[in-house]
Amino acid sequence: MTSVLLLNASYEPLSVIPQRRAVSLMIRDRVDRASEESFVIKGIANEFCVPVVLRLRRYINVPRRGMRWTRQNVLRRDEYCCAYCGIQAGVRHHGKVIAAKDFTVDHIIPRSRGGKSTWGNTVCACPQCNQRKGNHTPHEIGMSLRWEPKIPRVDYLVASGNMPAAWKVYLRLIH
Ligand SMILES: [Zn+2]
Repeated sequence: MTSVLLLNASYEPLSVIPQRRAVSLMIRDRVDRASEESFVIKGIANEFCVPVVLRLRRYINVPRRGMRWTRQNVLRRDEYCCAYCGIQAGVRHHGKVIAAKDFTVDHIIPRSRGGKSTWGNTVCACPQCNQRKGNHTPHEIGMSLRWEPKIPRVDYLVASGNMPAAWKVYLRLIH
């Protein structure tokens, strides 16, 4: 593990930072440990035990930096889980497993009706739900969202994949 999840004083995830920055924050007493899990960095003079999650001591007001909207990032934000029925890619459901590649990005207000490609108007959907929804709004067809789609706060490109269990606790707070 080479990076650290940095939390605000409020425990909201802020960003994924490289080890060097983590050590620098620790040396300057700006952060507290926020996970049991840690790793060791060998320096010239001494060793640093760096927790995989750090929390800032002082709350910082961060302007929401817009993370770039892409289809891939929407699927990552939603963890390849259908926002309508809750089926997740790769998990057996009624004897069937849907592969990640078959999940699509659904526009809640369809594009044909003026819906934009924004974080708030797009969710991950399984092929069945996507087909059923078609060019309707969820309301029209009696479908409902399991969560409110939001702008992700953490760089999912960095945070996705093989992340420490300790990160997940905090990243779950996003949904
Ligand atoms: Zn579905």
